[in-house]
Amino acid sequence: ANVRVPVTDHNDELTDLSRLFNDMLDRMERYIEQQQQFVEDVSHELRTPVAIIQGHLELLNRWGKDDPKVLAESIAASLQEINRMKSLVQEMLDLSRAEQVEINFSNQIADAREIALQVFNNFKMIHPEFVFVLDNDLKQATPVKVYRNHLEQVLIILMDNAVKYSKDRLEIHLSVSKNDRYAEIAVQDFGEGIAQKDIDRVFNRFYRVDKARSRDKGGNGLGLSIAKRLIEGYHGQLTLESVVGQGSIFRIFVPLAPAKPTVDSKNKSEI
Ligand code: ADP
Repeated sequence: ANVRVPVTDHNDELTDLSRLFNDMLDRMERYIEQQQQFVEDVSHELRTPVAIIQGHLELLNRWGKDDPKVLAESIAASLQEINRMKSLVQEMLDLSRAEQVEINFSNQIADAREIALQVFNNFKMIHPEFVFVLDNDLKQATPVKVYRNHLEQVLIILMDNAVKYSKDRLEIHLSVSKNDRYAEIAVQDFGEGIAQKDIDRVFNRFYRVDKARSRDKGGNGLGLSIAKRLIEGYHGQLTLESVVGQGSIFRIFVPLAPAKPTVDSKNKSEI
């Protein structure tokens, strides 16, 4: 049923109010549609692991349990699917929490440069098969208005992807810079890249360019949507440039925290 209030072209308070009311209804409807879509997507994603586990259990139940090899394989495969479901549930929670960032985490300050370098160095240790290059470094603390765990989480998602989607040239570059309002952290890989038509879509939840390939690597297609929502929750931006076959650059922009007042300016304001 259309419950919109008719809006006249009078220029009065009642007209303004009617417009406001209709806008609110639009927004609520969109929100409900998004939630419905989310439930559908999640059900779809959970169906595959459940079907695989069911298949294995049925096999074991019929005759598989008597064959030690089948028994071992089915147990291993089922455990793998259960792990996938666990990570899916965790990531859905992360996604849902990322939407609450603005409400719960304003007033947090972290050092963007320190966090970026820390994640970078951790990946360096975990992935000795990769060459890690620091293209640009501010060489000084870079306070930003972000809760540190969130910035760390976003960087881990981007670095993880850079590792997952690299092929021949195993090289990852990091760059930390800033302008007058934002700190910028860029993560570059030289892997398979992302086609123009997919560049916006990869930030949608559950979107994977190659579903089977991502699944093989343990991906649920939620990483980038979590990252984007987290960064946007802090009024930042997450951008992507990519060329198929050449690689991708993801850039995180987060608002700089205002510089601490110096002793001088503090004294002045007290006078
Ligand atoms: P996934 O768990 O599948 O990695 P993400 O949300 O992190 O989910 O990424 C969505 C999709 O974007 C991936 O499935 C992959 O197709 C593509 N993608 C993400 N990062 C990269 C990258 N660095 N290089 C190439 N493709 C990428």
